[in-house]
Amino acid sequence: IPLERTRNFSIIAHIDHGKSTLADRLLEITGTISPGEGNKQVLDRLQVEQERGITVKAQTASLFYTHNGEEYLLNLIDTPGHVDFSYEVSRSLQACQGVVLLVDANKGVQAQTVANFFLAFTSDLAIVSVVNKIDLKNADPDRAIAQMQRLFDCDPDKVCRISAKLGTNVQSVLTAVIEDIPPPSQCRRDEPLRALIFDSWFDRYKGCVPLVAVVDGQLAAGDVIVSSQSGQSYEVREVGLLRPQETPATQLCAGQVGYLHANIRTATEAQVGDTLYLKGQSVTPLAGFRRAKPMVYAGVYPMDQSQVPNLRSAIERLTLNDSSVSVQVESSAALGQGWRLGFLGLLHMDVFTQRLQQEYDSEVVVTSPSVPYKAKIFGAKNIKKYRGDEIEINGPAQFPDVMIVSEFMEPMVMGTIITPDAYFGAVQALVMERRGHQSEATNIDNERIMVRATMPLSEVVVDFYDELKSLTSGYASFDYEDAGYETTNLSKLVILLNGEPVEELSLIVHTSRARSIGRAVCARLAESIPRQMFSVAIQAAVGGKILARADVKALKKDVLAKCYGGDISRKMKLLKRQAEGKRRMKRIANIDIPRETFVKVLKR
Ligand code: GDP
Ligand code: MG
Repeated sequence: IPLERTRNFSIIAHIDHGKSTLADRLLEITGTISPGEGNKQVLDRLQVEQERGITVKAQTASLFYTHNGEEYLLNLIDTPGHVDFSYEVSRSLQACQGVVLLVDANKGVQAQTVANFFLAFTSDLAIVSVVNKIDLKNADPDRAIAQMQRLFDCDPDKVCRISAKLGTNVQSVLTAVIEDIPPPSQCRRDEPLRALIFDSWFDRYKGCVPLVAVVDGQLAAGDVIVSSQSGQSYEVREVGLLRPQETPATQLCAGQVGYLHANIRTATEAQVGDTLYLKGQSVTPLAGFRRAKPMVYAGVYPMDQSQVPNLRSAIERLTLNDSSVSVQVESSAALGQGWRLGFLGLLHMDVFTQRLQQEYDSEVVVTSPSVPYKAKIFGAKNIKKYRGDEIEINGPAQFPDVMIVSEFMEPMVMGTIITPDAYFGAVQALVMERRGHQSEATNIDNERIMVRATMPLSEVVVDFYDELKSLTSGYASFDYEDAGYETTNLSKLVILLNGEPVEELSLIVHTSRARSIGRAVCARLAESIPRQMFSVAIQAAVGGKILARADVKALKKDVLAKCYGGDISRKMKLLKRQAEGKRRMKRIANIDIPRETFVKVLKR
């Protein structure tokens, strides 16, 4: 199929607006799957995606469709629908010339619609506007279209009105894709091969399977390809299209999208953003992508230390499929050996840990999340420990002495919130409380308002979305983009037990929040530390200054109290049991603390 009859496009939408349902219908209409398979949301392959109804990893399908008597190849590149994955969205978009922007006729434009629109718009992609769910009783497609016209400046007469569920008008989407999205005309078939890796997954038998967009030339089994990044070469065993299962083909030509098998053993050998070329030819690598940078860190520990090897191999296997998770070994006196994992966002963290438990059957303890802070160091050159002027702080253990810090910085995001008018005041108050500053408020029609505000990421990762939802009875939607770093005031909140600092309980907090967070942590600890033979003072301090305190009263636990002389063997049994219980405790500052206490306090 010639380039002029090839289209590469994505569907972008707010979560639940019907992207997967529309993708299924398109697969059916083009005969890629039979109608019986429908409604299973074929492209959402992973179990967690099926269960939670969200698309995590971008999936792709090649469709053949006859329009005006000519056959077209339409490559549908699915994108994840959630804020955390906007990196994956933008990298999928690089393989496209256009997008289908899908809006629920009932709900109208939502925060993710806006964020996704800007991603597509700034990438200069053609946009096909579609209103979905016109079959719903309360559907108001005219209102949704008016919002789209106001925010995205689209032509209201060109918006497709469809029901993805019933299949109504879905053909019109394919027609618009063919007529309004340009072919990949920058591709050249008579030039040496250049193929961009835009996704990859791990197969137990075939190793790492890269998904490529062939930009120039062609690729076939038997070719020897070279990775521009590593210089390693591989013999191609098979190439093919995703329909959506792997379907072998004789070759992939410029303008096409498909997979290749080449016995690539690890994901690091074939990184997303890498350019492949044929051995012996010299080409200029294609512009890659910005690497995903973890923005939320959390400790992950096995429930039981004997599960360390199991958890290790589970994490290794999962990160083969998701190279955006960063992994570092971490050990804690209280929780034992574990890992510090870096995620793109909170949902990413939830999804990953859920997969750990589901697919590998290991229970994990996930500690409260933190964000990467930065600090500028005074005269850093004289202090050997710090190589640069600026250090990154990924956890309390890395918090530097404030005496040598000239400036702290924290990651910020630009948040988009869309809410019914009635909750505008409440939303503004929440944004303020979370140290945000509103930069814009726009009426998108006479009932809804869009608020844009910069907020510290650390405030967003802690229940912001939950609170926004409950404040607005579930009506507000939220999305965010990276907005760089801003100067801030940070303190390390140290928790002391009977005067001794306990490193694993300390936290990095905004200085204005130190006292209130300190109080809350002390109270939580006082509730969960069991009473000891002596009383325990729990204190929260910043730089030696005590900000909060709680106490656990003493208790004399005499296990023999109920034994009246006599029965020696029973006495021995009780003493033995007490000793075993002790072994399961951690001794910190002479205080016996069960592992469960740490789990309870550290878990989010
Ligand atoms: P996604 O999160 O954008 O992938 O959305 P889904 O495709 O998973 O759809 C979310 C929900 O909306 C599902 O329960 C679908 O059955 C439903 N849905 C999708 N399209 C339509 C439609 O055209 N009409 C109706 N009534 N429901 C739809
Ligand atoms: Mg979906």
